Amino acid sequence: MDLSARSVEDLLQELRLHQTELEMQAEELRVAQVNLEEARDHYQELYEFAPGGYVTVTPTGQIEAINLTGTILLGYERSKIVSRRFSKVITPAHQNRWYRAFMRMMKQAEVDPLEINLELIRADGSTFYGHLNCVRSDDAHRGRLLRISISDLSQSRRDELQSRIAAVAFESQEGILITDPTQRILRVNLASTQITGYTADEAIGQIPSVLMGSPRQDEIFYRNITDTLLIRGAWHGEVWNRHKDGSEYLVSLIVTAVKDDDGIVTNFVVTFTDITFRKQAEEKIENLAFHDQLTQLPNRRLLLDRLKHALAVSARNRQFCALLFIDLDSFKTLNDTQGHDSGDLLLQQVAARLSACVRASDTVARLGGDEFVVLLEGLGKQLSDASDEAQALGRKVLATLHEPFQLGSFPYVNTGSIGITCFSGDRLDTVEEILKQADLAMYQAKTDGRNTLRVFDTGMQARVSQRATLEAELQTALREDQFRLFYQPQVTETGQVYAAEALLRWQHPQRGLVLPAEFIAPAEESGLILQLGSWVLDSACAQLAHWATQPSMKDLILSINVSARQFHYPDFVDQVHAALDQHGANLCLLKLELTESLLLKDVEGTIAKFKALRSYGVRFSLDDFGTGYSSLSYLRQLPLDQLKIDKSFVRDIPDDANACSVVATILALGKTLNLKVIAEGVETLEQRNFLTANGCRYFQGYLFGRPMASEEFTTFASANSER
Ligand code: C2E
Ligand code: MG
Ligand code: MG
Repeated sequence: MDLSARSVEDLLQELRLHQTELEMQAEELRVAQVNLEEARDHYQELYEFAPGGYVTVTPTGQIEAINLTGTILLGYERSKIVSRRFSKVITPAHQNRWYRAFMRMMKQAEVDPLEINLELIRADGSTFYGHLNCVRSDDAHRGRLLRISISDLSQSRRDELQSRIAAVAFESQEGILITDPTQRILRVNLASTQITGYTADEAIGQIPSVLMGSPRQDEIFYRNITDTLLIRGAWHGEVWNRHKDGSEYLVSLIVTAVKDDDGIVTNFVVTFTDITFRKQAEEKIENLAFHDQLTQLPNRRLLLDRLKHALAVSARNRQFCALLFIDLDSFKTLNDTQGHDSGDLLLQQVAARLSACVRASDTVARLGGDEFVVLLEGLGKQLSDASDEAQALGRKVLATLHEPFQLGSFPYVNTGSIGITCFSGDRLDTVEEILKQADLAMYQAKTDGRNTLRVFDTGMQARVSQRATLEAELQTALREDQFRLFYQPQVTETGQVYAAEALLRWQHPQRGLVLPAEFIAPAEESGLILQLGSWVLDSACAQLAHWATQPSMKDLILSINVSARQFHYPDFVDQVHAALDQHGANLCLLKLELTESLLLKDVEGTIAKFKALRSYGVRFSLDDFGTGYSSLSYLRQLPLDQLKIDKSFVRDIPDDANACSVVATILALGKTLNLKVIAEGVETLEQRNFLTANGCRYFQGYLFGRPMASEEFTTFASANSER
């Protein structure tokens, strides 16, 4: 081959050029290589540190690759998880869902990306909710691959759940308002609209207390709520609200402050329920259980409650309290004569007056019937001060009770009796004892003439227990026949015994002979006088029947004393008749000694009884005459036989001019009314002579004979009889 030098040169030149070109290309390649490497590193970095985990899964379900976030999310080292089955990181409960999704992704020819939430297990066994975004890639070399990006759903799922719960809770039965820190309403729920009457539009932007507050609560009330909220972050209580339609309703309300991380209040949440009906029902039930329905005052139950409380408080603060027990004086008569409606009216008015007398903090209660109680608390540390204050109130109450009442169309004047006891919790008093003490003092006020007050003292207690013992003993005495009748002669001018007065004696097994002064009054009060009286009646009739068998005694008149209570007992007339009949005693020889006090009650009934007894032949003597008050016209209507001058006048004659004139007047009256007059308690000849000089024909007294036992009297009377 013939190569010219030029062409070799050219070739070499060309070769050099080529070489340079190649070098340049190599340089470019190198730069491209570096760029590529940089890009790959960058990609790798992006891949590894992406916010989600990336997992590549092979068609057989193995993990082929995983980024760093993925390993952190699942808690595995990369070497431990690569080539494991992806299903290993899914909880058993979600395995099926995973398989179905995986098969669909891998088997179908064309497939869209898929999103699925699955519960995943970390290497340490803990679980979390993962949101999986799956994309299939079809690689020419590596075949089909599933590329999964995973994000932790737990937190966002929790948040979502929370807000779902909150949404349900917000539309609950309770009214809910949410306000900003200045208390302007931001949101209301449906229940709130129903309760308040204001729609969301009307409510939003308003201040709750301004929009629906009731004038029942003043500004201070609402300011207190705000203050409490600022200090404690919450307030709850009952609040009156005004509905849009103007009606008022009561809500149970809770306000809670919502604070941010810095402790600054961002909102207030107000929840409330309408409790008007509940409250009304509660109040009604409470009222029924604890109040007297007639007067609306607290009843015994509530009083006992308050008393218990007062005792506890006074024990703590060492302050005295007082209890006033108030009883109206003739309530029963009012009820009996004017009917229960008038009685009810009086009780209501009394309740109102009592309530007006006391401080708002004191309790006025009605125990029942005509019994009221006032409880005063906080009367200071000195008993004497407490007692003074209670008595001052007691006097005020007496005065107010004495003011005329208007019962319907008729005016009524009333009085009351009050018992007071002061107490403090440091003594071992019980509620029952305190009530009993006040009751005892009230009872004493009644005994001492009514329309007055008495303060409890321990002597009262002693007297009452003494009385209780006495009553029990009297019962025993009746059962065991310890009573006797003594007989005191009644004589004529000439000293002849024409009659006797039966006087009751109690043959006490220890104390010997006990006189009536000790037991008649208690027997009257306890009602035992009825049994005692019929025993006397029975014994006297037996005595009369016995005397009838003795010639010297058969004409003697026997007087017995009859208490007012016994006389007024409905079947008294029948009782007398039956007793006389049973013993076959002569009706005409029985005389009943009655006192003037008996004439004060039930005038017509009393006259009728006198007349009925008189028609059987029974006689009457008016005992202790001159000490009571009887009207002349009344005396004229009674079929009396005898007036008995009381021994208190006889005692003072002839020295006391007053007594002399009373005695002379009674004797003159007897003459006018055509009644025999007997003087009792005649002890001296002077007395007898004065009486005789003034026209007295009949006498009784120690001058002629003391009360004697039956046999002694028989002997005495036989010796002094008329024959
Ligand atoms: P009275 O009916 O006025 O009885 C007269 C009282 O005077 C009797 O007292 C009698 O013992 C007393 N007495 C009689 N003569 C004299 C005297 O010369 N000087 C003085 N200082 N006293 C004399 P006694 O027996 O203690 O009875 C007191 C009262 O008890 C009676 O007063 C009567 O009211 C009541 N009483 C007596 N027995 C009964 C009874 O069976 N039933 C009832 N309900 N009361 C009776
Ligand atoms: Mg008498
Ligand atoms: Mg008398």
